[in-house]
Amino acid sequence: MGVSETEAIVLRTYKLAEADKITVFLSQHSGVMRGVARGARRLKSKFGASLEPFTLVSLSYYEKEGQELVAIRQAEILRSFFELSKNTEVVIALEYIGGLILEFAPPHEPNEKVFRMLRACLEAIAATPEALRQVTRYCEVWLLKLSGFLPDLRACVNCKKSFSEKNEKTYLGIDGALRCDRCAHQADLPLGVETFAQLRSTQRLTPAEWSLANSKASETSAKELSQVTQRLITRALERLPRGRATVE
Ligand SMILES: [Zn+2]
Repeated sequence: MGVSETEAIVLRTYKLAEADKITVFLSQHSGVMRGVARGARRLKSKFGASLEPFTLVSLSYYEKEGQELVAIRQAEILRSFFELSKNTEVVIALEYIGGLILEFAPPHEPNEKVFRMLRACLEAIAATPEALRQVTRYCEVWLLKLSGFLPDLRACVNCKKSFSEKNEKTYLGIDGALRCDRCAHQADLPLGVETFAQLRSTQRLTPAEWSLANSKASETSAKELSQVTQRLITRALERLPRGRATVE
């Protein structure tokens, strides 16, 4: 409690009263938080453009015991990503990703991996906006992984046979588990060799590396991978997340 400082990524903002803003942000060490920035909507606010969505900021805030909203005292831009806001497709995808983070990352639950992953994804999109679809997919896979909804990619859930990354046809069940050719159920979603290799490689590559490695992936595997994350996310949230149809 008291005054804290953190790096954070702004996810959302809402208007509050006449001149204030409520900011929802992903902090580096304390997970998703919500704070009030007094006077942030005034023309000459000390916050300037620092609280725009997807800005990486250094935040100073005051936290009072028992209160959900913190008071944002200062916000300094570390990286604005302002250039991304001119691209409508990127804005739609980022809104979707921001929404997913709010779904998968519970408030005040420290998760530095989610923070680092989101920051790396933003950097990757800023460097290569054409990789938007791949980075969105990568982000989905990692949010599933970090919240425990990604199946074991190393072995068949049934017979425990180890999967090889090179030449493995796998099957994703409606139970969210991954099975080998011999154990597959009828309703399982078949994943081609290329799709499974892509899925596995998310675990050892950064978003920029992964997008580059998959920039020439076939339409079939891109579609399969989209079905995989859609099935797993829908299973985790018990519904299709908002904006998923739009980003496809
Ligand atoms: Zn098996």
